Amino acid sequence: SNARSNWHLYSNQTPDREELYNRVNWKQQIEHALEHNRFVLFFQPILDIRSGYISHYESLVRMVDESGKIIPPGAFIPVAEQTGLIYEIDVHIVQLAIEALHAFHEHDSDISLSVNLSARAVATSQFIDLVEKSAIDRPFERSKLLFELTETSAVEDVTAAAKEIEKFRDLGYRFAIDDFGVGFSSWYYLRELPVDYVKIDGSFVRKLSTNMEDRLFVKAINDVAQGLGKKTIAEFVEDQYSLALLSAMGVNFAQGYQIGKPQPLETTLETFAEPVKL
Ligand code: C2E
Ligand code: CA
Ligand code: CA
Ligand code: CA
Repeated sequence: SNARSNWHLYSNQTPDREELYNRVNWKQQIEHALEHNRFVLFFQPILDIRSGYISHYESLVRMVDESGKIIPPGAFIPVAEQTGLIYEIDVHIVQLAIEALHAFHEHDSDISLSVNLSARAVATSQFIDLVEKSAIDRPFERSKLLFELTETSAVEDVTAAAKEIEKFRDLGYRFAIDDFGVGFSSWYYLRELPVDYVKIDGSFVRKLSTNMEDRLFVKAINDVAQGLGKKTIAEFVEDQYSLALLSAMGVNFAQGYQIGKPQPLETTLETFAEPVKL
């Protein structure tokens, strides 16, 4: 039942046999996909609300299985996090993202690209070297790469993580706290981590057009984040009215189905030529 699986999520209890089997099975699939280059990135546009232009894309990973079927990250990222494979995925994805950034910049040199990164990866000091090594083969403007930190709860040493982030930022890279307001993405991390952006979790944004309480939350998060000198991004913007509300609140960026769905690279590049229709 749901209650039972939720309970497992929040306990350190030994997983049952089925869960363990699934975990081992997925672990093998992830390792296989890493070896055979079976991860691909999709790209979702992010609108600069004030200018009306697409300023960023978020890269979202998918796994392509043997039959060519596309598997969403929800199916394998949690297992990757539990087994530690997330680190290898993150490193691999940064390389794919740097390649994509090159393709983007052939069409529009101002576009930024964001990459989801488990905060644990950043906290390990080898990560910066790995990213910089990828940059040797494919030079790119570092300020155009934005890391969305997920799983901040897994950071054991927040001070050390903050130092690593600071090192990256000195080189030009940018950072966001992802999913702000839910789980463990809390005020504490906003206070302690030197990020440039705060991404307001979609659960507060999705029903903005009808839910007055969510408007209060979005406004509060936006005001504090901007007061601290950060830019704000609202995700899950699904209708025109929500976008208008966000604009009135002064939120900086919007992302969601109202603006565009995640698409493969080729499709994304085709839309570069078209004007934004909202
Ligand atoms: P996220 O970072 O919060 O990404 C947003 C998710 O919401 C994406 O699902 C996106 O397709 C979906 N979405 C976007 N706009 C809308 C909307 O208007 N309405 C609704 N209902 N949904 C929307 P996706 O691609 O399945 O990604 C799920 C999660 O997987 C991501 O959540 C992120 O936490 C994780 N993930 C994705 N790519 C990577 C990656 O490369 N590395 C790591 N570590 N995690 C990743
Ligand atoms: Ca994200
Ligand atoms: Ca997330
Ligand atoms: Ca989210």
